[in-house]
Amino acid sequence: MEKLAIEGGLPVRKTKLYYGHQWIDEEDIQAVTDVMRGEYLTCGPYVAKAEQALEKYTGAGHAVAVSNGTAALHCACLAAGVGPGDEVITTPITFAASANCILYCGARPVFADIDRETYNIDPDSIAKHVTPRTKAVIAVDFTGQAAKIREIRKICDKYNLILIEDAAHSIGTKYEGRMVGTLADMTCFSFHPVKTITAGEGGAILTDDDTLYRKLLLARSHGITHDEALMVDAPHEGSWYYEEISLGYNYRMTDIQAALLESQLQKIDSFIARRKEITKQYNEAFSDCREIILQKEIQESNTCRHLYIIRLDLEQLDCTRRQFFDAMSAENVQCQIHYIPVYWFPYYRQLGYEKGLCPNAEEIYHGIMSIPIYPKMTSQDVEDVIHAVKKVIENKRR
Ligand SMILES: *Cc1c(COP(=O)(O)O)cnc(C)c1O
Repeated sequence: MEKLAIEGGLPVRKTKLYYGHQWIDEEDIQAVTDVMRGEYLTCGPYVAKAEQALEKYTGAGHAVAVSNGTAALHCACLAAGVGPGDEVITTPITFAASANCILYCGARPVFADIDRETYNIDPDSIAKHVTPRTKAVIAVDFTGQAAKIREIRKICDKYNLILIEDAAHSIGTKYEGRMVGTLADMTCFSFHPVKTITAGEGGAILTDDDTLYRKLLLARSHGITHDEALMVDAPHEGSWYYEEISLGYNYRMTDIQAALLESQLQKIDSFIARRKEITKQYNEAFSDCREIILQKEIQESNTCRHLYIIRLDLEQLDCTRRQFFDAMSAENVQCQIHYIPVYWFPYYRQLGYEKGLCPNAEEIYHGIMSIPIYPKMTSQDVEDVIHAVKKVIENKRR
């Protein structure tokens, strides 16, 4: 048996491998420098071009590019009319932003539990949490696998709820043959550097609904309109004239970000292909490990993975998740945990949320670990990760 690096042995690799990393090439750099030499740095032609590219890629009617994924979620909640006194149902196994956007609107996040096998929000638990105050559902496509949109849609239709899809992980995924971006009332993307494509920071909301689209534009830019048809007071004051007709924010994307986004979108097929390839290699490598439980793949979702999660069966291992994680770090494979249940955070506790709300989420949290997956990984990198996981298992097997 190989001696673990954490116990004084040689590490599997000499350099650190992280769980995610961007892919930036000369075309991306060229696209950004073109903007810098041009007329506009923000709100110029590149934002419109990136939005059209997103519409073309997903098949959605409208795309609204914003400064980041969190802003996208906030705009979606505002367009859905979420406000004080409302409740919005979401999952606890997500990044904090999926729930924070509800708090920004003065509404209350309600946490539905997750499915024990896919780790996505469980439609039955959503149905149990609907009240007369419920306004919307924010379903997260965790790791890139689409949530059970068909079942969730049914609940939303029955109770007249807006369906927002947090697709920060799932650009490029198809559900029942349809692209993510066309499934929910509004779909939110993030273009943070660890996500499938990046704009440095960036986000977008996709929708087919013209009314929601108008509200999203207002939310993005101060609630200000130049459209006479929307004006309340004086449509014919003069060409300088504009009106603020609702309270909006400055969530605009710059042309610098948009140029990078558009350049990245041209390469997305190769990014997706590589992520799928790595997923397949991991699935095959770990399928015979009884110490690891793999995330269940539902056949409705043709998934591009943003994250690859292994769940440790701690009854089969003579170590804690912490010890496993630290042993992987010592082998120079830096894992991450996605995610700590959102309502466990001190800020949420202070709002009155208590441990025990979502038993599945809490149980699964204790065993999960994200291992590296990103297109720039070489086949040696992938082999190193598999090697490190198997090395730790071999040493810690009961
Ligand atoms: C990354 C992420 C966000 C937030 O996106 P930013 O662009 O970082 O603001 C929201 N939800 C989920 C699930 C994410 O992973």
